[in-house]
Amino acid sequence: MANSIKAIRGMNDILPDESHLWIHFEQIVHQWLAAYGYRNIRTPIVEQTDLFVRSIGEVTDIVEKEMYTFIDQLNHDSLTLRPEGTASCVRAAIEHNLLYAGPQRLYYAGPMFRHERPQKGRYRQFHQVGVEALGYAGPDIDAELIIMCSRLWELLGISGLRLEISTLGDSESRTRHRARLVKYFELHQDKLDEDSLRRLHTNPLRILDSKNPQMQEVIDNAPKLIDDLDEESCTHFESLQHILREQGVIFDINLRLVRGLDYYNRTVFEWVTDKLGAQGTVCAGGRYDGLVAQISGKSAPACGFAMGIERLLALMRESDNEILQPVPDIYVVHYGEQAMDYAWKCAEFLRSRGLNVTMHCGGGSFKAQMKKADATGARYALIIGDDEVNAQEVTLKPLREPTEQASVKLATVTELVG
Ligand code: ATP
Ligand code: MG
Repeated sequence: MANSIKAIRGMNDILPDESHLWIHFEQIVHQWLAAYGYRNIRTPIVEQTDLFVRSIGEVTDIVEKEMYTFIDQLNHDSLTLRPEGTASCVRAAIEHNLLYAGPQRLYYAGPMFRHERPQKGRYRQFHQVGVEALGYAGPDIDAELIIMCSRLWELLGISGLRLEISTLGDSESRTRHRARLVKYFELHQDKLDEDSLRRLHTNPLRILDSKNPQMQEVIDNAPKLIDDLDEESCTHFESLQHILREQGVIFDINLRLVRGLDYYNRTVFEWVTDKLGAQGTVCAGGRYDGLVAQISGKSAPACGFAMGIERLLALMRESDNEILQPVPDIYVVHYGEQAMDYAWKCAEFLRSRGLNVTMHCGGGSFKAQMKKADATGARYALIIGDDEVNAQEVTLKPLREPTEQASVKLATVTELVG
């Protein structure tokens, strides 16, 4: 027997019993972003590989080992399934001159692809909502991005998230810091793993991001960026903290916060939970003032974040407020040919009045149809037989309350069902 075809490892089907939670999440997210004046942008899932290499950085986990890259069979271009959304968003904004009209508040949502080891909360196709504020120097917009996250957690009914913030300074302070780090790690080469040794001279900041538990001590004792920070970045960081405090947003300063992508400067932040095991970061972002220039040559400041939808949904499933599957208002039961013709018309009429109506299809006895009606969770059955057709009425039977069924005019059903 031939092997049956299965979904690709780390890439999940989202089945109907789950998808209603996704839809609920998406509705809240679109409303939330509209409330803050962010507009949706949709970019292709495939881009030139070079876009990600240039923006994310050559010596990063994503570019070194996580990208789905392939050669276009026709023109031999190197293409990549997007591993994140910021680069595409910035590319599109530049390509279509969006910034000529002034700064832009943008957001995107959709699947991202990274060739990682699949485990709970970590997949090869996963989904993000990302928010990018292009052309804003901050720190006001940095604060806005963080403040709006706190509101979202509330809207989603998620609690217990901790906010960590830090600053990476400007590129000169990073260069100073880099030199000190290289010196320090050179002295402790025996404690570095293979990846870190390789990065020692190419991207020593990345070593700080290592998840290898054996290296945590040497990382903890490494020089801190805060000691190499430039004055403007210090002021920027202070102002951000001031706004957050004024607005009652609680945060921890974590000077070890290093994001997995190269393009960040100044503000970086993460929202973390301890309810999801090792995959505890649900939302991460920061400022990336150099990225626009890196992609296009023209510079513009920018700040943004992305959140992992699967991880947020996992937290929502854990919370007490259960999100119920939507059920039909009405299930139409009909028997007889005349009755069916009338039933189609009734169903369309009620839908045009805003009700959710499921029509019984596939025939069967009255009893069997009523069983189906009940199984859908519908609030009412609308019963149509020859008697109803002759009287030009319908029988409305409540399925979830002990109230008696009644024969009524179709036009009154909307009121009765409410
Ligand atoms: P991690 O440290 O968990 O690998 P990251 O720094 O690579 O995360 P980002 O690139 O900042 O993640 O992506 C933003 C968010 O997207 C993460 O905080 C996480 O919630 C989610 N995310 C990232 N990679 C995955 C994945 N492979 N599967 C599911 N969610 C993911
Ligand atoms: Mg990662």
